[in-house]
Amino acid sequence: MVEIEHEEERHEEESPKKKWVTNMVKSAKKYHKLCPYYDKKTGQCLLMVTVEGKPGRCDRDGRFDGCPVFIKFLEKMYEYYTSRRKVLPRDFQDVVNQAYLMGPI
Ligand code: SF4
Repeated sequence: MVEIEHEEERHEEESPKKKWVTNMVKSAKKYHKLCPYYDKKTGQCLLMVTVEGKPGRCDRDGRFDGCPVFIKFLEKMYEYYTSRRKVLPRDFQDVVNQAYLMGPI
């Protein structure tokens, strides 16, 4: 049982989706110290509506590395691109404004 779980983890680690998400987080860190979806004035997470369907606050002070909302957004973007057979962006800046253009995904 434990071995099966390890297998699944390894599979997940190597999946193209996971790789793309990891690369996007790396790329995002090149451009942004704090999460581009973090509203410093109000503490709101501007991705929450897109990802969770309702507004919400950021409880991480904008630290997006490892943020589940940020990861979920990128996973949804991956599905969006691949399901429409679009070319996957290689740079986070090509993705950053999609959150506002698309609305809830
Ligand atoms: S919750 Fe995550 S995605 Fe939202 S603003 Fe904070 S760090 Fe960014």
